[in-house]
Amino acid sequence: MLSEDLLSILRCPLNPSQARLVLEGEHLTCAQCRLRFPIKDGFPVLIVEEAELPAGCESTSDLPCQKREGN
Ligand SMILES: [Zn+2]
Repeated sequence: MLSEDLLSILRCPLNPSQARLVLEGEHLTCAQCRLRFPIKDGFPVLIVEEAELPAGCESTSDLPCQKREGN
């Protein structure tokens, strides 16, 4: 189980300055872009390529937070 202390310092690699990660079952979900990162053997895998994209997104460039930042 991840500790609150650890959770509070983890950030999504796509928006590390602001995005917090929320523990949801066996995943960490980014509060900003909704990527779902797996947790393997108790360690969060914060790698974009390993993350599950939210519904409607084909790639990370489809994520709303990435679109907003420009083109
Ligand atoms: Zn994110």
